Amino acid sequence: MLLNAQQITTLLQVSRELAGVGRPAQALGFLLDAVVDLTNSDAASVLEYDESIASLRFASLMPPQLRRSLEGVSVPVQGSIAGLAFREKRPVLVSNVAESPHRFKGIDYLSGYQTHSVVAVPILLRNEALGVLEALNKRDGSDYTGDDVAILEALASQVAFFLENQRLRQVVQKNQEDTERLNRMKSDFIAITSHELRTPLGLILGHSTFLREIIDQEYHDQLDTIVRNATRIKEIIESTTSVNNVQTGTALVHRESVSVRKIIQDAVETLSEDARRKKLNFRVEIGRSDLWVEGDAEKIGIILSNLIKNAITFTNENGHVLILAEQIPGYVKVSVIDNGIGIPAADMERIFERFYQVESHLTRRHGGMGLGLSVAKMLVELQGGKIWVESVEGKGSNFTVLLPMQAKIEAKA
Ligand code: ADP
Repeated sequence: MLLNAQQITTLLQVSRELAGVGRPAQALGFLLDAVVDLTNSDAASVLEYDESIASLRFASLMPPQLRRSLEGVSVPVQGSIAGLAFREKRPVLVSNVAESPHRFKGIDYLSGYQTHSVVAVPILLRNEALGVLEALNKRDGSDYTGDDVAILEALASQVAFFLENQRLRQVVQKNQEDTERLNRMKSDFIAITSHELRTPLGLILGHSTFLREIIDQEYHDQLDTIVRNATRIKEIIESTTSVNNVQTGTALVHRESVSVRKIIQDAVETLSEDARRKKLNFRVEIGRSDLWVEGDAEKIGIILSNLIKNAITFTNENGHVLILAEQIPGYVKVSVIDNGIGIPAADMERIFERFYQVESHLTRRHGGMGLGLSVAKMLVELQGGKIWVESVEGKGSNFTVLLPMQAKIEAKA
């Protein structure tokens, strides 16, 4: 069979339409127009296999009056001409439909359309039948030929990719929706549980602090243990809530003039007992400046505490932890430097991820949830700053934070 220039142009246009990003209904309409035109038929249809009902279903038809009455209607796989092409994965030509044992009467009955002759080819992808492409009633009353089959098969292979694309797009969209739904559920869960845990925890902390004031010194150790552990739970809740708030865009960032010097001093004071217990050489070098930045004091406090806590945790006894702070153009730069266990090169990229820990949680000697650095990074970035690490395994780490002096708080805050 030799196609003329017009027919080749039509085939090309169909390919383009099926590969394009237009609406699926339009693309199939365009395809069926081409089928009608190229095979000189009165009507044409695409049927797609629907697994949920184990039947074929009209995805589109031409002319429009047939589409209106039959689109979405199902056709059995057993007992129909389309079903035969689908099951046996081969073209089926029928010149006198009325006499065909495979005829499915329901369709003509529903549409009021009289089918005389049919050519049906399977839509195959990697030898799996996805559906059927049909042309009905040759206009000049003649029989369908091998040429018509060849045209339909050429078009059917393109429809196969088109249907597969549609299916994959639906799968991707469904996965996206599922992920968003799960994400919302997770955020709600975190928000609700954190809220519910905060009140009883506040009471435990308040009452144990009060009891410590009034009871004998011999019980102070026990109460200190209660307070320390309840405070730890509080920190975990706060870290999880911070991540959640940043992720859901509900984090609030205050802009005020804050002294980084003061924040460092407060954090150092809170953590100096831990450093003392490990006999660390724990030093701060700030100079005389107050290091003012426009930012959120509480969040800067969390960032620096997390870094200092890690430096203390991951440095062996008698080691060094140094906090350096200085003003550089546009920023206040704070470095937390230790000569502890360091971070293996392979883990450097990932330590700022949520729940990431260098040591496996089964064998690790240190506590923690792998949230401290991800919280620090989110809070730094929320305020328009930067954070990074330089580290050598076995030698130590240097975490550096740049806080902008002028607020560069992101819009979502
Ligand atoms: P965690 O609360 O579990 O320590 P972080 O997010 O704060 O979680 O830290 C993630 C991981 O990065 C830690 O578990 C540790 O393996 C590594 N890390 C963080 N800070 C240091 C440091 N100063 N020295 C060595 N390793 C560190």
